[in-house]
Amino acid sequence: MARYINAVCRLCRREGEKLFLKGSKCHSDKCPFEKKSYPPGERGRTRPRETNYLIQLREKQKVKRIYGLMERQFKNYFKKALKMEGITGNNLLVLLETRLDNLVYLLGFTTSRPQARQLVNHGHILVDGNKVAIPSYRVRVGQEVEISEKAKKMEPIIQSIAQSSEKEIPGWLQVNHKEFKGRVISMPEREEMDQKIKEELIIELYSR
Ligand code: SF4
Repeated sequence: MARYINAVCRLCRREGEKLFLKGSKCHSDKCPFEKKSYPPGERGRTRPRETNYLIQLREKQKVKRIYGLMERQFKNYFKKALKMEGITGNNLLVLLETRLDNLVYLLGFTTSRPQARQLVNHGHILVDGNKVAIPSYRVRVGQEVEISEKAKKMEPIIQSIAQSSEKEIPGWLQVNHKEFKGRVISMPEREEMDQKIKEELIIELYSR
């Protein structure tokens, strides 16, 4: 599958906000965005005229980058959200939030979503006791996510759990860090998901 392979910090600069793609570096003074918050490239400091289209496009790109998705994957999520009952924008966010890699991150087992994706890809995550190596796997209410025996001894996981006491775990999840386990106890409500995302802009963009 195609992946973005350039320096990810450029993505934060491009979107004009911190996307937290590099774990603990994002919370340190080594974060490049703290010094250069303008877009990368020669014309980075010259602001393009803000049209509705540009605002909608940037919002979509931002969300795609937060969850580490390519265009086709993201569009497929949108199509799925359209077919579901309820508000399309909300459905879209629920589909993204309940991805297995996102859950591993939210539960505090890793310090970033890319790190969580790697953990899933390498077969270190169990869902209801079975190995699941698909980052996009959709975790349902009642399912339990657990770190494999091997990964429980990995230093980055131990460190991430130690740091996660400072992190707020969303109310729709339950976690037991001592046992390296977490569970989905309900579907996320809109107020429990990223408040900075303006999903209506993405819907407007795809409805053009
Ligand atoms: Fe973004 Fe993190 Fe890089 Fe800072 S360190 S620019 S928040 S990815």
